[in-house]
Amino acid sequence: MDQIKTGRFIASLRKDKGLTQASLANRLDISDKTVSKWERGAGLPDVSLMLPLCEILEISVNELLTGEKLTDADYKKSAEVTIMSLVQENKENKKRMLQSVMCGIITIIAVCSLTVIASYIEMPVAIRIALIIFAVITAVAGVGTAATLEVKAGYYQCPKCGHRFVPAMKDYVKGYHTLTKRRLTCPECGKTGMCSKHIIVR
Ligand SMILES: [Zn+2]
Repeated sequence: MDQIKTGRFIASLRKDKGLTQASLANRLDISDKTVSKWERGAGLPDVSLMLPLCEILEISVNELLTGEKLTDADYKKSAEVTIMSLVQENKENKKRMLQSVMCGIITIIAVCSLTVIASYIEMPVAIRIALIIFAVITAVAGVGTAATLEVKAGYYQCPKCGHRFVPAMKDYVKGYHTLTKRRLTCPECGKTGMCSKHIIVR
């Protein structure tokens, strides 16, 4: 998907309809800065805004993402490419999530085994200490790897404005979290809240 092309397309359709950035933003209940961002190609509209935007501009989501009006023949081909790229992304996200879970399980088993060996089997103190240090390093590396994989699998969605984003690693690590939500600051509206995790792109 070409954000610049989509941005120019939005700008030209908006002008054709005699709308200003502010009046388009107003109809979508968003800030005109967001509209300006799309038109500069600095970001695509949120999934939740795509349908209402397309309705106003009288185009299909597919045309929005392709950045041009499509004929019937183009339409079918382009729909397939768009769907395939979503399917591919979902597949990769699921794979990363699975790898993250596997990595977590292997880490837990390795760290538990090392701890049991270091605690219950007779050995010189130096080796015992070395094993415990090794267990700690394994735990840190394993948790780090699992987190790196997980942060890249899918998106977090802002509860306030619905914007979807992938957080920076440092914000991700800091954020208080439950199994399905994490406290993050939305890059779109700047509000901090419990953002829900979405693995599947719809
Ligand atoms: Zn937000």
